[in-house]
Amino acid sequence: MSQGGRTSPEGSGRALSEAYDTALLDLDGVVYAGGEAIAHAVDSLATARTGGMRLAYVTNNALRTPEAVAAHLTELGIRAEASDVVTSAQAVARLIADQVPRGARVLVIGGEGLRVALRERGLEPVESAEDEPVAVVQGYGGPELAWGRFAEASYAIARGVPWFASNTDLTIPSARGIAPGNGAAVEVVRIATGAEPQVAGKPLPPMHRETILRTGAKRPLVVGDRLDTDIEGAFNGGVDSLLVLTGVTDGALLLAAPPQHRPTYVDADLRGLLTGQPEITREGEGFRCGGWTARASVEAGRLEVTGDGGALDGLRALCAAAWTAAGDSGCELDGGKALARLGL
Ligand SMILES: [Mg+2]
Repeated sequence: MSQGGRTSPEGSGRALSEAYDTALLDLDGVVYAGGEAIAHAVDSLATARTGGMRLAYVTNNALRTPEAVAAHLTELGIRAEASDVVTSAQAVARLIADQVPRGARVLVIGGEGLRVALRERGLEPVESAEDEPVAVVQGYGGPELAWGRFAEASYAIARGVPWFASNTDLTIPSARGIAPGNGAAVEVVRIATGAEPQVAGKPLPPMHRETILRTGAKRPLVVGDRLDTDIEGAFNGGVDSLLVLTGVTDGALLLAAPPQHRPTYVDADLRGLLTGQPEITREGEGFRCGGWTARASVEAGRLEVTGDGGALDGLRALCAAAWTAAGDSGCELDGGKALARLGL
């Protein structure tokens, strides 16, 4: 289990797919990117699943229904059913259902994923502030969402109707670049109303709770590419995590991570599920992993690494040096030269 003051990635003598019963996998930057499967994802997931690991796909994107996400995965060659997908739409629908009467009307600013999730919880999606909603929910609506929808939300919220958001990711990756995400849309309504939404998505507890309720995981491993959603969500939920470097996080971000952003394990891609993880040992002033030894040189203001071998081992050793030196904050020592030495 994760604990507050992690100062190093951990080792594992067993393959992670055997040490944990369920992988809670983020999608973008982990399984696919720009609609295409990420290298080694399809084969690694098939092998983990055959070996008995339960795979669940956990996304902050509230636009698509679980059926649509499962169909996309199946298209990429990954066997998945709707029941293997957990979305922030489902998490926010439960959060709302816990606070309003059954059958209550909820004003929806967002897409089909939200409407389906609300109905699943016995709530009635409505489209206008004049429909007497008892809650407003806002989720990513895609590029077609009309500006007038934000006005609709604002009218209801200004009357005191409680406001919920599926997630607050400020950006969303697309094939053509970075686009405004639901967090940016939430800011629009926040500026108009001065109100504050209740939020469900990663890294907040309602999303983790939804995932555990739906998968029944006893010993889950969160697998993600973002420190401030996936890894922090695992930290908040008190479960272990694997960071893969196929998405938005690079070595420099990882070395600078404050405690709640430090993953239990680090690997290049989803092949990391199928292997054990090397131990990191203290060696004098430094930390050794595989053929590499890393240390924090506070006098020189930088991190240093010597040795040779696999770059990932060097990165793990550097994490131990950086996180130990930083304690409860983020490491401010320069890791640039050390990362370049590793080719990262
Ligand atoms: Mg991601």
